[in-house]
Amino acid sequence: MVEQTLVLIKPDATKREIWLQIIDHYKQAGFFIKKTRLIPKMRKKDVRKFYHVHKDKPFFGRLVDFMSSGPAIALLIEGQNVVEEIRKLNGSTDPKKAEKKTIRKEFGKKGGEKHENAVHASDSLESAQREIKIFFSDK
Ligand code: UDP
Ligand code: MG
Repeated sequence: MVEQTLVLIKPDATKREIWLQIIDHYKQAGFFIKKTRLIPKMRKKDVRKFYHVHKDKPFFGRLVDFMSSGPAIALLIEGQNVVEEIRKLNGSTDPKKAEKKTIRKEFGKKGGEKHENAVHASDSLESAQREIKIFFSDK
């Protein structure tokens, strides 16, 4: 089934100026990037909403500060089974545990905090729909 998913290139990656390499990596892997949008800085209240499922986790405050600390880039990626395939290419949440050749292994911040894992991707079709609306609905 042709699906759409939302990738966010996080502030740790934009600050290290590796966002172009990350986009290239998705393209080299054969993914079709349908739309891109630069987000100069997410507002904290928008990050809280975006990551609301984690609001009671101990890392939530750090995550909110981090996500609103610099630019992010949103990518709308389309293709067969992309929700699962992109999650696979991104790799494990913790870059130190991420599998070889995954985005988080290659581009997660070396010696960085656990949240500095370069990218976000939607975890289900429902999340994808919600997250795409946040970044790509033209009001
Ligand atoms: N995160 C963190 N510490 C943790 C778990 C997660 O800082 O112990 C951050 C990390 O940036 C992660 C985000 O919170 O990408 C969302 O966590 P989730 O468990 O949903 O991981 P993901 O779906 O991004 O792999
Ligand atoms: Mg998640």
